[in-house]
Amino acid sequence: MLMATVMKPATPPVMPRIAPREELNPFRIAQIQFDMAAEFLKLDPGLRQILRTPKRVLEVSIPTKMDNGQVKVLTGFRVQHNLARGPGKGGIRFHPNVTLDEVKALAMWMTWKTATVNIPYGGAKGGVICDPKRMSKTELERMTRRYASEILPIIGPSTDIPAPDVYTDAQTMAWIMDTYSMIVGHEVQGVVTGKPVSVGGSAGRDEATARGLLYVVEEACKLKKISLRGASVAIQGFGNAGATAARLFAEKKAKIIALSDTRGGVTNSRGIDPFKALRYKERSGTVVGMPGASRITNDDLLTMKCDILIPAALENVITLHNADAIKARIIAEAANGPTTPHADEILARRGITVLPDILTNAGGVTVSYFEWVQNQEGLGWDIDEIRARLQKIMVRAFSDVVDTMRRHHVPPRHAAMILAVSRVAEATLVRGLFP
Ligand code: NAD
Repeated sequence: MLMATVMKPATPPVMPRIAPREELNPFRIAQIQFDMAAEFLKLDPGLRQILRTPKRVLEVSIPTKMDNGQVKVLTGFRVQHNLARGPGKGGIRFHPNVTLDEVKALAMWMTWKTATVNIPYGGAKGGVICDPKRMSKTELERMTRRYASEILPIIGPSTDIPAPDVYTDAQTMAWIMDTYSMIVGHEVQGVVTGKPVSVGGSAGRDEATARGLLYVVEEACKLKKISLRGASVAIQGFGNAGATAARLFAEKKAKIIALSDTRGGVTNSRGIDPFKALRYKERSGTVVGMPGASRITNDDLLTMKCDILIPAALENVITLHNADAIKARIIAEAANGPTTPHADEILARRGITVLPDILTNAGGVTVSYFEWVQNQEGLGWDIDEIRARLQKIMVRAFSDVVDTMRRHHVPPRHAAMILAVSRVAEATLVRGLFP
């Protein structure tokens, strides 16, 4: 009976009334997005309560010896939102502005993301409130290892598998894998993904988020009859997701007309060479000031005329305040949560296609899944196999979302949410309530 109500959607989703002041708490935003899908699917109230709150929240203190001999006690989190479809999966973020609500939102989005691409995971996320740019490598290693040991009771290859996110990387994952293995007394490669290839990492994991995004944008361009060759692309954020996207889009002969990082942005309407930008950033720590491009602000970048805008930094950059000024034809969300619900509504009204995070940046978690499968099975797939498998999953997920859009006349984020929430709801219901 309940199952039937989950699988048979009725009326189109209705945007709940939001207070005039825009909601910017990421967890509240994640709940608003969920409520719209739950309302559309006419989910049972009890089931809604289960799905709109995290299953498990862990807050830990991380005493860390700094290089000057003093001890600093940092705070970290690990949140598991829903594990009905499989072990928890989600990155770890090191950033001074991390909050528990942000980690709860990111964990919830991971639940919908793994369901959208239909891989056998739930959703989880971790974060540490710290400023990694002001820490030495040895301080970062000690902090990471202590954080890993503190969250160890709830992570593991069949319970919750962390991965990199903002300001964490393959080295961070190697420390976590080593710490976990040392404590349990044997090698456990599958406890994290995004590891260096030398310790069980997968070919193609470093480029996976951007490559998955490219596959989704290629499909969207086919539908909108936009040629990627010569298309203008503006990218906010020049880290793992943004810098790799710049390289991959340039390889497809798209024109990268703007790039940015925390210090600001650069633009050139005739195109920026991402390799030159990368080399410049390696030397000077920022893309700002690179030769052959003029300076712009991050705000200017978001509202410049382009075919494809790729937010690849943090949440809440496309809001009520700039959604009317956006001139891109497609927004491809590499970042998690870059667009607020109010902005979504404005962009939909203006006919701008928003390819939502839970679909568009799912390439990272998908290749993380491949890495985990290879670790469990003792296999090693080559890059061609990884890319072919990734493309198949991303194209199928895109097509599932488009089918849902067409069937229910809803924009892409609602469609992806309807698809994802119905899959998670079905798994939750069929498992039943313990005890
Ligand atoms: P990263 O640490 O490699 O890079 C982050 C980049 O964003 C840096 O270039 C930084 O300078 C820039 N940045 C930070 N704050 C900014 C600001 N206020 N304005 C402009 N630029 C700013 O992180 P990443 O892994 O590339 O993650 C970026 C986004 O993509 C995050 O939202 C993350 O959750 C999301 N994401 C990452 C992955 C992945 O596999 N790495 C997967 C899915 C989603």
